[in-house]
Amino acid sequence: MHELVKKWQNVAPSQNAEKILRERYYLKNREGEYLENSWNELSRRVARVIAAAELLNNPRLQQMTPAERLDHIKSWEEAFYELISSRIFIPNSPTLFNAGMGVDFELLYKPLENMKLEDYEKIVQQRNHLHMLSACFVVPVDDSIDGIFTAVKEYAMITKVGGGIGSNFSALRPNGSFVAGTHGKASGPISFMHVFNSAVSVVEQGYRRRGALMGILNIDHPDIVDFIQAKRGNDGERVLRFFNISVGIPMQREEILKLYEQDGQIELHHPKWVGKKQVRVREIFQLMAQNAWETGDPGMVFLGEMNKYYALYPVRQIISTNPCGEIGLGPYEACNLGSIDVAKLYDGGKFAWDALEKIVRVAVRFLDNVIDVNVFPIDKIEWAVKESRRLGLGIMGFADLLYQMEIPYDSEEARRFARNLMAFISLHAHEASSDLGEEKGNFPLFSQSRYAKEENFVPFSMDVSDYDDEIKQHFKTRAKKHKRNVAVLAIAPTGSISNIADTSSGLEPNFLLAYVRYVNKQSSGEREPLLYVNEVLRKKMPAEDLKRIESELIEKGSLKNLDVDEKWKRIFVVALDISPMDHLLMQEAFQCYVDNNISKTINMPNSASVDDVLDIYVEALKHKIRGLTVYRDGSLRTQVLTTARSA
Ligand code: UDP
Repeated sequence: MHELVKKWQNVAPSQNAEKILRERYYLKNREGEYLENSWNELSRRVARVIAAAELLNNPRLQQMTPAERLDHIKSWEEAFYELISSRIFIPNSPTLFNAGMGVDFELLYKPLENMKLEDYEKIVQQRNHLHMLSACFVVPVDDSIDGIFTAVKEYAMITKVGGGIGSNFSALRPNGSFVAGTHGKASGPISFMHVFNSAVSVVEQGYRRRGALMGILNIDHPDIVDFIQAKRGNDGERVLRFFNISVGIPMQREEILKLYEQDGQIELHHPKWVGKKQVRVREIFQLMAQNAWETGDPGMVFLGEMNKYYALYPVRQIISTNPCGEIGLGPYEACNLGSIDVAKLYDGGKFAWDALEKIVRVAVRFLDNVIDVNVFPIDKIEWAVKESRRLGLGIMGFADLLYQMEIPYDSEEARRFARNLMAFISLHAHEASSDLGEEKGNFPLFSQSRYAKEENFVPFSMDVSDYDDEIKQHFKTRAKKHKRNVAVLAIAPTGSISNIADTSSGLEPNFLLAYVRYVNKQSSGEREPLLYVNEVLRKKMPAEDLKRIESELIEKGSLKNLDVDEKWKRIFVVALDISPMDHLLMQEAFQCYVDNNISKTINMPNSASVDDVLDIYVEALKHKIRGLTVYRDGSLRTQVLTTARSA
């Protein structure tokens, strides 16, 4: 393995990371006693279980002798272990929580040299119903009481094992329309969303984090105006508390832009609705901006844009995203995620591209293996996942990497680097998926996919990067024959795993350079403050300068108004120092090389006006992005992150 991986294996998680791990991640037995006490032990468990998947998904194993089989699995266990224990690659929380559920504890931690083939076979056999490893799900909701309450039950089952769920509620007939069965009136999608919200609020207890939901209503549904206002009065606690809501744009975003610019109207419709109504697109956008200004909701999801680049469209269709938006999915699809900490790959004044290539390839195999050792809560989900084998490999630590490289986040140089970084990851991840297709078999729907059928199909829009020719070449040649996964990439929020990695989250700028984060103590439910000062700043800024400004920095979170050299101010920008447009452009830079989507928040200062918010909603239609989430500072009473001052 690469030296850098070794180097990071010797760096222990910070005290803050260790606290989070002990509170929520380290496995305990039924008596509540810790079975693991270190990140290394957790890494061993996860690496071992995911390596055991080779028994389930590798036809070549049949041709090997038992000794060769054992060696094969052990060598993958070691490769996975190196990546995870170094915290250079971390899979999504459900994989960390649940890998090994049901398995004899002794098998999960015994020394690698003592592992036998039967031990791996037992791991595979003993997995129980809690062995659920994916973060993202989409459940369809049909227009009938039976359909709706089937979905409520499915929400409960998925939440129980730790998955986040999204649904598009547009199939439900609008409020006030006729119900033949009862000769009554339908109450409409929004009232039913409250039922889902309540179901999840009850099920959440006893699990290691709160449930997370995404509710979508398409822009042409008759209840769209009420939907946009559904989280009004949101205090962060009561109103549809578990839902992020988004307006779905099923058509191409350019169509909506044209209607907006020409002050056109959109016809609202539903097959079960006899009414006729048109709404001005400008009115819808004004209302979205007003509500987003107040509450942060609704966002927008460009379903048409997602399907435009979806390799199985129109055989399959993306109908919704998961709660944070990074994955668009069809009915009953799920996806597991994993993220590479790119900040750890900057070493000795250089970015280690060679290490990144190796890491990407191992990570793709890891995520593909997760599918096969996953125990899905519902059979329909297992079928949908296994016919296309979608993965979400992405990054975290981007902002901290830019700090080290001394490139301001809000600069063309940063965006150029972002495009190159993502294009490079995309190229090698897709190569790895084609290698796996050759080794283990293509995804079952491959022959119906656009990889096989469409001359010049590339599953993302591309822009300008150093790897464009190689990417085009890949999809023209290798991808025509071999592809293990319908999509491979996504950039997740990494809300928890970036803390475990002691790095900045996803592709986001740091929210603050110093802050207090509250974590719930599982044992007592108390909120405990953890203090952070950005590590790169600590290393780069002369100690005496930092000392001089430290208390002010903890209070303000940004260098912007502090008495320090301009150079530091320019490099160490935080979310609210960056203009909304620069946030959006960074989202676009990455999205151009990502086949799934990206989780990104466009942060705005508290002083932003409704018109400022509206400008970004309209601007979003002009860029190659797949959705929009805006957050105006202070618009919700409860924030996860807070400065020491406001705490
Ligand atoms: N998610 C969830 N509950 C949470 C946080 C996240 O169900 O409290 C799901 C959701 O689908 C989200 C995805 O996990 O989009 C990834 O979130 P993140 O990267 O923050 O998760 P991590 O792996 O860091 O815990």
